[in-house]
Amino acid sequence: PVSGKYIGRFAPSPTGPLHFGSLVCALGSYLDAKTHGGHWLVRMEDLDPPREMPGAAERILHTLDSHGLHSHAPVIWQSHRHQHYQDALERLAAQGLIYPCQCTREQIRKAGGHRRKNCTPHTANKEFAQRFRCAGEQESFSDLWHGLQTHPITEDPILKRKDGLFAYQLAVVVDDIAQGVNHVVRGADLLDCTGVQQRLFRALGSEPPQFGHLPLVMNEGGQKLSKQNQAAPLDDTLASGNLIRALQFLGFKPPLELALETPRQVLAWAIARWQRHQVDMRNRLLED
Ligand code: GLU
Repeated sequence: PVSGKYIGRFAPSPTGPLHFGSLVCALGSYLDAKTHGGHWLVRMEDLDPPREMPGAAERILHTLDSHGLHSHAPVIWQSHRHQHYQDALERLAAQGLIYPCQCTREQIRKAGGHRRKNCTPHTANKEFAQRFRCAGEQESFSDLWHGLQTHPITEDPILKRKDGLFAYQLAVVVDDIAQGVNHVVRGADLLDCTGVQQRLFRALGSEPPQFGHLPLVMNEGGQKLSKQNQAAPLDDTLASGNLIRALQFLGFKPPLELALETPRQVLAWAIARWQRHQVDMRNRLLED
């Protein structure tokens, strides 16, 4: 059970501008925090430069601001926090939970989620990934919308890649702990990462947060809208209308005249009405 003040967050990766699917997550996490007396934080997950788009981070922050979604505290940038990730890795290593590995995905899968017996990288040449020992374990949690989930962990996840970059799974947990996040409301595409993250929270000595996974906006091809499949960027000049469509997607029925009001007024309408049980849980096209 989570105690203390509700602290939630939205944690975009700057791989492209925000699209409608990201707005649904930003708005859902914002409303859930605000209606529970909480703080809502924005964190920039700029951890993987090869996948990032120049200017995307600033553009995302501008889009959030123009939609009235303001972080309670200054935005934290993961690119400035490598030392924290390294420290956490060393704490895990001290517990014997980390090992170096040179296996390919295929090899790991065939070996049942752990490294092969004959994988003994020369730690001197640095060409190895670092994995977290947890495959074969099982994690259960009660999701705010999906109810009780039991996830068997099938593979030891990489926490530091062989190119020296820290993995999302490590950084997200280290930062949620550092920021005191106790509610993680995000898209259902991340449901499968939750077991590993919950395990990492515990291994780093923290109580896992309450998790809740929101429905996904799909495109015509049946894929979730994503920056990778070139989902259309949000138009910041249509913020109120965008918020209204996001509310409709989440299962609420804002009066259409609200589109003529400011984003702030749309958010005030929504804060007065947000109820978890009213969220429409179907992953679907925007138009449905
Ligand atoms: N940065 C991740 C993403 O954009 C989300 C992290 C999270 O919400 O846990 O997909």
